[in-house]
Amino acid sequence: MKWMRTAIIGGGIAGLAAAYELEKARAAGAEMEYTLFESRDRLGGSLSSEIVGGTVLERGPDSFLTEKPAGAELCRELGLQDQLTPSNDAERKTCILVKNRMIALPDGLMFLVPTKLVPTALTPLFSIGTKIKMGLELLHPPRPADAEDESVAALVARHFGAEVVDRLADPLLSGIYGGDAAQLSARAVLPKLVEMESEYGSLTRGMLAARSKMIAKARDALQRNANGGAPRAGERRPARTIFMTLKGGMQQLVDAIEAKLKPGSVRLGTAVMALDQTATGWEVEAGGVREKYDAVIVCSPAWAASALLKGVDPTLSETLADIPYSSSITLNLVYDEAKLPALPDGFGFLVPASEGRSMLACTFVHRKFLGRTAPGKAVLRAFLGGVKNDALLSEPDEVLEEIVRREFREILGIRTEPEHLQVSRWGRAMAQYAVGHQARIKRIRERVDTLPGLKLAGNAYDGIGIPDCIRLGRKAAQELVASQQVSESASLPVG
Ligand SMILES: Cc1cc2nc3c(=O)[nH]c(=O)nc-3n(C[C@H](O)[C@H](O)[C@H](O)COP(=O)(O)OP(=O)(O)OC[C@H]3O[C@@H](n4cnc5c(N)ncnc54)[C@H](O)[C@@H]3O)c2cc1C
Repeated sequence: MKWMRTAIIGGGIAGLAAAYELEKARAAGAEMEYTLFESRDRLGGSLSSEIVGGTVLERGPDSFLTEKPAGAELCRELGLQDQLTPSNDAERKTCILVKNRMIALPDGLMFLVPTKLVPTALTPLFSIGTKIKMGLELLHPPRPADAEDESVAALVARHFGAEVVDRLADPLLSGIYGGDAAQLSARAVLPKLVEMESEYGSLTRGMLAARSKMIAKARDALQRNANGGAPRAGERRPARTIFMTLKGGMQQLVDAIEAKLKPGSVRLGTAVMALDQTATGWEVEAGGVREKYDAVIVCSPAWAASALLKGVDPTLSETLADIPYSSSITLNLVYDEAKLPALPDGFGFLVPASEGRSMLACTFVHRKFLGRTAPGKAVLRAFLGGVKNDALLSEPDEVLEEIVRREFREILGIRTEPEHLQVSRWGRAMAQYAVGHQARIKRIRERVDTLPGLKLAGNAYDGIGIPDCIRLGRKAAQELVASQQVSESASLPVG
């Protein structure tokens, strides 16, 4: 078998997942070695936690969705099963700030789509005009499946009106992508709704049909279980909670992967400065030296991948550069809970842009996950920035702290000082799936397919969340391992 050397560029969760997969193949006897290059002096990229006085503070992501299995699966493989901590869904409720008043999301909202008549009719979140539009939405005609991509704002406004974009779609997407509903692609961000529209016309009718199917499937599974039957292949039991985290913070995932990697395979503080294709493979320039590799998995943000691939394939480089990014800032404020006024019920609140505030969202961390906050403490995590307020990133910490203190005072009536305050900045960290994203990704894949030994992974391509980045990192590595096995069998003597 030909010995394979692979360079992984970027030690965020995608690069770590790729390295872990290559390490598994190496440990199982595959003839290979790998080097993970990370420009910062720590691994994890956006994943970073700190424990202060027995309280876990997440600088970046605080959890992952359980609906996508790759996150929990990897944690279990790494022996972290006893650290997995579900979200406290008994208290799950999200509020929207409207005219400085907290309004809970009405019951029955599924993916921005109202499915229950009474809560929708009674909620003060929407005006009468919007509620009438929501009723008439049941008559919305289908849109052809091959219609051009459009923005999430255009899709939502066509069905439910501009107020639903302002009070629901935009704040929800700001919370996830730091993004703008007027720029994000409906096909990439809400593919299920686009499918439903082409089949049913009305999103409410589509969602109700999907819910009936889900209920029938769950009833069928329950019936079979009651009769002692095994679940069918591919059938998953309904997730018990929406989110999952790790008891000691998301950093545990980073540390657990790092501990599995072969000593000497990680180079921290070593940015890859240049990447070239050679007659036999790839050449990587980092730390002042050029080294030869057979394969490269680029797990840096797309803008950094674009710079590295400029000389290799200008079209690929330009298409990567076309993927926009947003920046965000998180502030964790730790309080003595007894000194806080009563907080609204639930996990936190979202702030529509029309409120004219700097804060995009706030999580009541001590409620979302139990057992990660020291007794008697409360942690409020504020998000600032996003595409509409990028300039905040260059403000000094004191200015950001003052903004959050003032907005907490005005919104929540908090007058006490936090016992601890932590500011984290994430410049150009979140890829934005702008209108036309899927076509852009198709062009990127076509170009990558012409470059043997090159793989791309990370949040720019096919899913922004941690489980998607893990899935893509592992898949890139698995494909390289498989290609090595194919080339080996092709070189075996026949007969
Ligand atoms: C504040 C915040 C909150 C989030 N919350 C959640 C959440 O709750 N749940 C969830 O699922 N997702 C969340 N996300 C999204 C998720 O965390 C990210 O999409 C994911 O971690 C991205 O991983 P990645 O490996 O693609 O990229 P990154 O984490 O950005 O890693 C890329 C790495 O490449 C390195 N690099 C760049 N250029 C080079 C170079 N030339 N040479 C070497 N190294 C290089 C960088 O230093 C970086 O470490 C959040 C993101 C942020 C920023």
